[in-house]
Amino acid sequence: MNYDVAIVGGGAAGLALAVLLSRKIKLKIAVFEGGARAGRKLAASGNGQGNVSNKFIRAENYHGGGGRLAYRIINEQGEVYKELFFGKFVCDERGRIYPAGKQASSLSDCMLRELGRRGVTLLTDTKIVSIAENGILFNCTLSDRVVCSARYIVLCVGGKAQKQFGTDGSSYVLAKHFGHRITPLSPSIVQLKTDTAHIKTLRGIRADCRVTAIVDGKEAGSCRGDVIFTEYGISGNAVFSVSSALAGKEGAEVKIEFAPDFSEDELADDIDIKQSIGYDTSELLSCTLNNQIGRAIIRRANSRNSSDIARMAKNFTLPVLGTLGFDYAQVTRGGVDMRDVNENLESKLCPNLFFAGEVLDVDGDCGGYNLTWAFASAAKVASVIAERES
Ligand SMILES: Cc1cc2nc3c(=O)[nH]c(=O)nc-3n(C[C@H](O)[C@H](O)[C@H](O)COP(=O)(O)OP(=O)(O)OC[C@H]3O[C@@H](n4cnc5c(N)ncnc54)[C@H](O)[C@@H]3O)c2cc1C
Repeated sequence: MNYDVAIVGGGAAGLALAVLLSRKIKLKIAVFEGGARAGRKLAASGNGQGNVSNKFIRAENYHGGGGRLAYRIINEQGEVYKELFFGKFVCDERGRIYPAGKQASSLSDCMLRELGRRGVTLLTDTKIVSIAENGILFNCTLSDRVVCSARYIVLCVGGKAQKQFGTDGSSYVLAKHFGHRITPLSPSIVQLKTDTAHIKTLRGIRADCRVTAIVDGKEAGSCRGDVIFTEYGISGNAVFSVSSALAGKEGAEVKIEFAPDFSEDELADDIDIKQSIGYDTSELLSCTLNNQIGRAIIRRANSRNSSDIARMAKNFTLPVLGTLGFDYAQVTRGGVDMRDVNENLESKLCPNLFFAGEVLDVDGDCGGYNLTWAFASAAKVASVIAERES
């Protein structure tokens, strides 16, 4: 089998690349997907609702050696999700953009159907196990030992997060074969294991809080949103957002600020009034906070003084013991080192070898930023290959 372009990995980036490239130019394109179905992670994204992008995209939402380049490419490529899926989208109060039907699987279905109509070859249950240069061609060895060739290779193999979606990190070896370095990998957008001594009574409770990551005594990131208390520590959107700053950091802490709409002084004033009319100590934060949360704060403050209680409500720190790891993480921090990749996302070590999506050392915050990168990087590679071929 000979192809013009072999796309390795049929995830968000690989499918988007195949769609966009096949629209631009007539080439023999094949997508090789190791799993039984392409686009599985995309179909599970955003709790099954598909948070495809975010209205507020800033440079600081992207991390890793390729964070700055990713931001430039995202700006250059615009709203790629609109180009990929012709439908209506809705945006929530945090800027998160979803398909109006709130069905992530419809996104992968749209791309798969379009690939079928355009005659793109999609081979599922077909993992590429090695790639070798053979003059102007690449020879790809498939899991069943069959060899096929292509003039361009695009590695869209994802990272190491949630191996049930086919991303166990084993495919970085394909890049390493060409001399590419891989930066240190860590789980990001992931639940945090914390000391649970002060939150044992809060299991299952969800609260709107501001969460701040503290590393070496300094603030390393902050986000407002849901915090869910669990048997191992904390989860929820706000936790996911600060998790990457904490992965692998010894002695790190998270500071939880309860009742983020109200100041410490406002809380203290309420407590003074409640005390003056004879409330029990355990009820001094009632109404403002969930009762169990209020009692946990008061117990920990170990004081009846309104300032002490209010201060604890705003500075509820928990030592971080680690994360739940790659099996639970939504993305991988780290990846193919950007020092060996040019502005077109092409290898500096091997011409016609490209990368798109999470395989690169780029990770975005929680809230649609990672799919934005997967689609924008795919769009970039599609334009570069189409231009070179026309
Ligand atoms: C549960 C969950 C929810 C998420 N929700 C969101 C969200 O709402 N919004 C958001 O922006 N981001 C979200 N993310 C992150 C986002 O889904 C990923 O960043 C994005 O899918 C990355 O796209 P990708 O194409 O680079 O990699 P992937 O989508 O991971 O695709 C890689 C594909 O390559 C295949 N593959 C790997 N190696 C080989 C090989 N050697 N040969 C052939 N095939 C191979 C894999 O089977 C896989 O299908 C979520 C992630 C998870 C896990």
